[in-house]
Amino acid sequence: MKVLVINAGSSSLKYQLINVDNGEVIAKGLCERIGIEGSMLTYKPEGKGKFEFKQDMKDHTDAIRMVLDALVDPEIGVVKSMDEIDAVGHRLVHGGEKFNKSVIITDELIKEMEVLTPLAPLHNPANLMGVRACQAIMPNTPMVGVFDTAFHQTMPPKAFLYGLPYEAYKEHMVRRYGFHGTSHMYVSQRALTKLDMPKEDTRIITCHLGNGSSISAIKGGKCVDTSMGLTPLEGVPMGTRCGDMDPAIVTYLMERLNLDKKGIDNYLNKKSGMLGISGVSSDFRDLEEAANNGNERAQLALDTFCYKVKKYIGAYAAALGGVDAIVFTAGVGENDRGVREKVLSGLEYLGVDVDFDFNNSCPRGEEVEISKPTSRVKVFVIRTDEEMMIARDTAALTAK
Ligand code: ADP
Repeated sequence: MKVLVINAGSSSLKYQLINVDNGEVIAKGLCERIGIEGSMLTYKPEGKGKFEFKQDMKDHTDAIRMVLDALVDPEIGVVKSMDEIDAVGHRLVHGGEKFNKSVIITDELIKEMEVLTPLAPLHNPANLMGVRACQAIMPNTPMVGVFDTAFHQTMPPKAFLYGLPYEAYKEHMVRRYGFHGTSHMYVSQRALTKLDMPKEDTRIITCHLGNGSSISAIKGGKCVDTSMGLTPLEGVPMGTRCGDMDPAIVTYLMERLNLDKKGIDNYLNKKSGMLGISGVSSDFRDLEEAANNGNERAQLALDTFCYKVKKYIGAYAAALGGVDAIVFTAGVGENDRGVREKVLSGLEYLGVDVDFDFNNSCPRGEEVEISKPTSRVKVFVIRTDEEMMIARDTAALTAK
């Protein structure tokens, strides 16, 4: 069964065509600058190199059309016709409390997503543009929505409630939802297969550390807490997002810097985090390089990040009543050995005993265990694969 996985942002659209039966990625790529001058499609058919097409895409429908044209192209295509695509799986960001698992996309679901738009004003409308574009071009192909929030819906109220008047939750949907759920679910399921113990007893902490970062506490395979909140701004400081802070800072800075709602939103989401602290970059590779060359603020940004990740691990070990495995994933978690070392050193009291030499030399892109064989807590580095997860859910819900 072939599933087209779509991850639509406001001006970009990532796609993968996956054969779910054998796990093969048949082709993948990206549409950039949709609706902006200089639009471009990148298309990578497996084993046939990489192609770039610069052509105007005025909207997501144009983008999807270009993707499909490339997929069925007689020379560089990978399928004979669109009919070979059995289903489409869409990454949808915010499913609120309504969706705790993946669902077939219907008109009803689209209406529900629109109700949730105030919670994800940038993401949900962009996701829906991707859905509508596919519906317009492939009206008879079944589609499934896979939510970033769904995996976290098992959190108990004591974990998802804020210390606000209860009506903020009941009337205004204010609560912790959490994001990166598909990734936390995927890597925790992989970790479960490596732990030699009954699933219901397992206590896993998953650290999805990328440009956006979140950490989850998972008991018996179910999420019981996570660091991102109502929006992806909460938790550890990220590439450009501030993460946890005293909420009074918002009004204080609005006044001091004369910022309006948009201004403060931009300040906290785009100018803060690693970029804001270092003044160098939001990219961890740049930070590592600058820190190695003696840039103190780059070092400070890295130290701050690792310290906050470590604090979350401590908090979640307390929430879980101990920990059996810690998992690192996403761009930073999978690749940045220095970050892993800093986060994990000093956790011996928890039963974490890391082979730091192996951490520094282990192959990238593979699933590895970086704890010593005698370590009570296993530490894994696992490459995340949200697209495969979306493809599998889509196949499961649409298989005839
Ligand atoms: P997102 O999906 O949130 O955009 P990713 O999970 O792709 O983010 O992570 C992007 C981050 O991963 C960037 O900050 C990048 O610097 C970091 N990263 C990627 N490769 C490396 C590496 N080899 N060493 C350190 N950091 C890396």
